[in-house]
Amino acid sequence: MSGAAQSDTIAAVATPPGRSGIGVLRISGPGCRHIARQMIGELPPPRHASFRGFRDAGGGILDRGIVLFFPGPHSYTGEDVLELQGHGGDVVMRLLLQAALDLGARQARPGEFTERAFLNDRIDLLQAEATADLIESVSAAAARSAMRSLEGAFSQRVNSLQQSLTDLRVRVEGALDFPDEDVDAVIGVDLTYSVQEQLQIIDELQLQADQGRLLRSGIDVVIVGSPNVGKSSLINKLVEREAAIVTDIPGTTRDPVREICMIDGLQVTLTDTAGLRESEDRIEQEGVRRAGLALVRADVVLWVHDDQIADTDSAAKLRQQMAAGAVLIEVNNKIDRLAQAPYRQNNETGTTVIGLSALIGDGLDYLRETIRECVGYNPAGEDLFAARERHVRGLADARGYADRALQAIKNDEPLEVIAENLRHAQQSLAVLTGQFSADDLLGEIFSRFCIGK
Ligand code: GDP
Repeated sequence: MSGAAQSDTIAAVATPPGRSGIGVLRISGPGCRHIARQMIGELPPPRHASFRGFRDAGGGILDRGIVLFFPGPHSYTGEDVLELQGHGGDVVMRLLLQAALDLGARQARPGEFTERAFLNDRIDLLQAEATADLIESVSAAAARSAMRSLEGAFSQRVNSLQQSLTDLRVRVEGALDFPDEDVDAVIGVDLTYSVQEQLQIIDELQLQADQGRLLRSGIDVVIVGSPNVGKSSLINKLVEREAAIVTDIPGTTRDPVREICMIDGLQVTLTDTAGLRESEDRIEQEGVRRAGLALVRADVVLWVHDDQIADTDSAAKLRQQMAAGAVLIEVNNKIDRLAQAPYRQNNETGTTVIGLSALIGDGLDYLRETIRECVGYNPAGEDLFAARERHVRGLADARGYADRALQAIKNDEPLEVIAENLRHAQQSLAVLTGQFSADDLLGEIFSRFCIGK
């Protein structure tokens, strides 16, 4: 990305609204030194905590606290950055922000500090996204993986892959001038083997990115079954054992009941639905319509049975509503009534069936294990990094082009075709790190940050 300096100075309160021990005002840009002199007097030594009075544009004292000055380029944004740590109250913070604005700063947009860090080459796009992911992480495992991305684990893998593809492409392009010679001899490597090797690396990376995506965004589990089979009891048991972290999920108010539980660091959103039964009742019809919507989004559908209650849904009907790739698990609840031990088996259609008791809590581990397995989540993975849907797609694009290059080699197609596909593969990776990215993508990414980050 271009390292073009930003001409204006931005300011924002970096701590959340409300009362707290301290509140932080953050300012970044060329006007920092001027604002610092007006608000706190002499510029403090770089990166040293100094205790100062904070003044408004007219010289009146607003607060006293710690000030930190980070001269660019060795700062978060790569520009001059000033941080004022005052008393954490909304009014104090608003007055401090107003003073900075009166002295020439403008209110920062969400994520604008991080966006500047990206534009000034302090971090790449994967790291910028990891910053937001770390702040928003829903479990310790998700936070660890975001931290690994932030420290560059993902970027390094993508960069080295990109480097190998570029290297290979340059060699192939070099061979274009020698059409009649043995390609491998001119290129200096076994082309087929080299591309296969890159494909293998992309495959590994895809697997890891997919795990990282699961960790970051969690999965949707929808529970269906006739009334009274024990759906709510099952949800309550799943939520109760694992400490539930309740987050704000936009748009949930119109949806069926939703609860969140964690399975080994994986965030699972559980939705209790009315199922797909037919009904004359208007309210129930609405419930069924919403159940259909929830089913479309589900990664996993749990179909709960009670041997004394007739099923109102059918596997075929459920599968029809589910997205391709979503998994159906059947749960035979209330095994305590039959004095049965929990079990896990496959029925004749290959669907996994779990026997459990939601009342006693027996057999829930089978259920957790099955959910984990069917979405491919492996909590033992130590070297996970946070990833997003965008990354998974980018890697899939790169894989598609590399595979196309391999086919071209095997079919003896012209070298130009091979070079072109390798170039596309490499470009798909460049989009991931942000070396090559459209403005609207950047806008979309940074607008989701919080203010002051
Ligand atoms: P829902 O309508 O499907 O949400 O069902 P509920 O969770 O409200 O449960 C209906 C009834 O079944 C309640 O009286 C529960 O206590 C009972 N129930 C739920 N799970 C079990 C179970 O595993 N064993 C037994 N014996 N009763 C259960």
